[in-house]
Amino acid sequence: MSVVPAPAYSGSLFIVAAPSGAGKSTLVNALLALEPGIKLSISTTTRAPRPGEQDGREYYFTTADDFVARAERGEFLEWAEVHGNYYGTSRLTVEQEMKNGTDILLEIDWQGARQVKKQFPHAAGIFILPPSIAALEERLYKRGTDEPHIITRRLLAAGGEIAHAPEFEYAIINEEFNVALSELQAIVKATRCRFAQQAARNASLFAQLGIHAQQES
Ligand code: GDP
Ligand code: ADP
Ligand code: 5GP
Repeated sequence: MSVVPAPAYSGSLFIVAAPSGAGKSTLVNALLALEPGIKLSISTTTRAPRPGEQDGREYYFTTADDFVARAERGEFLEWAEVHGNYYGTSRLTVEQEMKNGTDILLEIDWQGARQVKKQFPHAAGIFILPPSIAALEERLYKRGTDEPHIITRRLLAAGGEIAHAPEFEYAIINEEFNVALSELQAIVKATRCRFAQQAARNASLFAQLGIHAQQES
């Protein structure tokens, strides 16, 4: 018999990863419109803003020197180098929000997902797959936000990211957008109803009902 440790916080944690162009940000933004209880963690990056991106909305944009100094101070829950830029998740923001019962969604790469899973084993890992590599390429060109050499770099990295898909609990194939969106929403709803998460979120009700710490063989 081993005791299943309860989640440290009452908020749920979702990790969404995908190769660039799979539709991760579009799906996540549509999910947030349907599920107001979830907040997207805004990462810090050394990547240059794309046209239309605003500091503090898509990312906090910073320099490599500042990023490294913050990483050394332990300010990131996780950080990684992706496509030649640094990306990191604020430890303070995520922990404070989850402590307050807010669900947090991280849009991060597989390296970051691994670091987060070590610290939060209850986090739900979701991998978004494209219907084909050709679709990925077409979406990156149609999105029109990156120079051709950046797109080439991201396509070359896609196989490396996809190779880590088996490390995630859930896989969504983003072919029909609305189908993929409803699958993502279903995963979120099911994760929120996990017994241990409900117990953490509704501690006083569970106590009133006489439900005690669960053990699993
Ligand atoms: P996208 O691939 O078109 O979404 O392009 P982005 O430049 O927004 O993201 C580049 C990569 O960095 C993706 O794999 C993201 O998942 C990843 N990423 C973004 N923010 C973070 C973060 O805070 N931590 C980590 N580890 N990866 C991140
Ligand atoms: P990511 O965040 O994974 O890099 P985006 O969300 O920016 O990807 O999506 C890449 C492009 O593909 C965007 O222009 C988006 O509108 C488009 N897209 C997303 N999902 C689909 C889909 N199911 N079918 C066709 N195009 C899609
Ligand atoms: P983009 O530059 O296109 O916005 O993002 C490229 C990749 O960086 C995406 O795959 C995205 O998931 C990843 N990424 C964005 N923010 C973070 C982060 O904070 N941490 C990690 N590890 N990856 C991130």
